[in-house]
Amino acid sequence: MELDGKCPTGPIETRWERHRFNLKLVNPANKRKYTIIVVGTGLAGGSAAASLAELGYNVKCFCFQDSPRRAHSIAAQGGINAAKNYHNDGDSIYRLFYDTVKGGDFRARESNVYRLAQISVNIIDQCVAQGVPFAREYSGYLDNRSFGGAQVSRTFYARGQTGQQLLLGAYQALERQIGAGQVEMHSRTEMLDLIVIEGRARGIVTRDLMTGKVESFLGDAVVLGTGGYGNVFYLSTNAKGCNTTAIWRAHKHGALFGNPCFTQIHPTCIPVSGEYQSKLTLMSESLRNDGRVWVPLKAGDKRSASQIPEGERDYFLERKYPSFGNLVPRDVASRNAKSVCDEGRGVGETSLAVYLDFRDAIQRLGAGVIKERYGNLFDMYERITGEDPYNNPMRIYPAIHYTMGGLWVDYNLMATIPGLYVIGEANFSDHGANRLGASALMQGLADGYFVLPNTIGDYLASTKFDKVDTSHAAVKDAEANVCAITKRLLEAKGRRSVDSYHRELGKIMWEYCGMARNAEGLKHALGKIPELREQYWRDVKVLGTGDELNQSLEKAGRVADFLELAELMCLDALDRNESCGGHFREEYQTPEGEAARDDECHCYVSAWEFKGVGSAPQLHKEPLTFEYVHPAQRSYK
Ligand SMILES: Cc1cc2nc3c(=O)[nH]c(=O)nc-3n(C[C@H](O)[C@H](O)[C@H](O)COP(=O)(O)OP(=O)(O)OC[C@H]3O[C@@H](n4cnc5c(N)ncnc54)[C@H](O)[C@@H]3O)c2cc1C
Repeated sequence: MELDGKCPTGPIETRWERHRFNLKLVNPANKRKYTIIVVGTGLAGGSAAASLAELGYNVKCFCFQDSPRRAHSIAAQGGINAAKNYHNDGDSIYRLFYDTVKGGDFRARESNVYRLAQISVNIIDQCVAQGVPFAREYSGYLDNRSFGGAQVSRTFYARGQTGQQLLLGAYQALERQIGAGQVEMHSRTEMLDLIVIEGRARGIVTRDLMTGKVESFLGDAVVLGTGGYGNVFYLSTNAKGCNTTAIWRAHKHGALFGNPCFTQIHPTCIPVSGEYQSKLTLMSESLRNDGRVWVPLKAGDKRSASQIPEGERDYFLERKYPSFGNLVPRDVASRNAKSVCDEGRGVGETSLAVYLDFRDAIQRLGAGVIKERYGNLFDMYERITGEDPYNNPMRIYPAIHYTMGGLWVDYNLMATIPGLYVIGEANFSDHGANRLGASALMQGLADGYFVLPNTIGDYLASTKFDKVDTSHAAVKDAEANVCAITKRLLEAKGRRSVDSYHRELGKIMWEYCGMARNAEGLKHALGKIPELREQYWRDVKVLGTGDELNQSLEKAGRVADFLELAELMCLDALDRNESCGGHFREEYQTPEGEAARDDECHCYVSAWEFKGVGSAPQLHKEPLTFEYVHPAQRSYK
């Protein structure tokens, strides 16, 4: 298969503009003749559904939560990047582009990243117009703070609840269209299969989560904005419901999966405290603006933080990376936290934590300013740990947070199945091997508000659609497939709960495909995962029936998909004989312990084709070329 990213050529500054001009348009009167299915109501899906309806398309929109505004995007705390240069501190579209390509360790497409940086400025204007209450300075201008991997302040924020405020903006735009009858909203409805007719994505099969009713919905194009798959690791900062089902089932119909092993580990999370835990909590990266990361100089030092004098502390990020200090990118900060803990210098009961200390910032600025900046995050930390972070340093440790991998899409955001579009965290597109903080919200909204509404018209205008209805054989096959999976799960009547399998899978993934990977460990995981999957189908216990609200059944289907995806992630990690960004293969590191890329052999996007459960998938490679930001060893020193 020849992978065509459809990236425009020529001067990078005008690529998107020229590309847009060359796209076919659907005239306003014709838009109402098309129906677009949008799965997902997070920042990506919500903004896309609202924008497409605003343009005049008929939209059918789906989410599994009870309300579109409960999508996981609501959890985003820290902020959203945009190259507005309000601080006049040297920022520009080019610098945001440069930081993102470098931050992603040269594994993203330059054309996509440049477009993202360009659109970032429009997003802020759009959200301000919607009334999103971004933090402001005394002058009235929007305030900014810094995030990792940047030496400028370009992150717009609304206290520690930026995602919630942005989602309320998108949600209101969506509600307006629901009210106008342009969007038909289906909450508590889970997509369980994709309908492909004559090679084109034409619809989805869903299950009503309240009644169990299996139903099909047809349209002219399908958009997946279904979020990331970090929960394959069981413990992550993601909302418990986040899963891979929509994109995995589309993958099984022929949509290639891009860079599945690229996962992001966030350095500042509340450490794991016990086996009973089902979720990890993020402490926003914004805290690293003022918090200083340190551990004791000596291994095994069990004194409390206040008893360790200044001279016996190691501010290891400031020491090793003086230019970026505590604001090095996430992959670098996480790896360093792991290595000081491996040296026996970790703190807290488990010794798997480092300090994030606000003592100096409080002395310099006063507790009031710190409270104003991070009050809700400090409260959250205290509620979870029982410790007061104003008086004791926070304890933090890296945790799974974001997936840079996802369905492969071209520059138009179309997957390898014509008519299937994938946006937001669900696609692989813009962040390479490591996403910079505050860039996921930017990408989700860029895709939904600005890119997709332009590119989807080109497909609709240039395709002849035959009329299809739910009696079509492809619809019946997809429905039968969904019912068969449900039946099989309910009839297994085994001994172990879904969660126990999920936890076991998560442990394998964290141990062998987590923050550090090596060939031996990955091969071991590749032996274990199929065994676990086979045992799962034989021995899983799902209580209740399929005709009612049954969260155990919902989870069971999602875990079944994780058990297949996990294998692909390990295969991808094993194939990539290099380290880059969040993919750290222990065999490939510089003498200083930094990720050592192999541009000669691995400067590509890996795009995997499904060949059946348990059969080897086929790897396709999209070569990456860099005309503007030339690959070099990343340095934050
Ligand atoms: C704790 C936390 C804090 C974060 N903070 C930041 C931050 O400050 N800045 C930043 O840039 N990024 C941040 N991120 C990352 C960012 O929040 C996410 O990447 C982004 O919100 C994903 O948006 P999305 O629209 O792609 O998906 P989501 O918000 O996850 O939405 C997915 C949608 O798809 C629906 N869905 C999924 N599967 C199905 C299905 N099978 N059927 C029907 N519906 C389905 C869901 O119901 C939901 O509506 C943070 C992430 C976490 C975990």
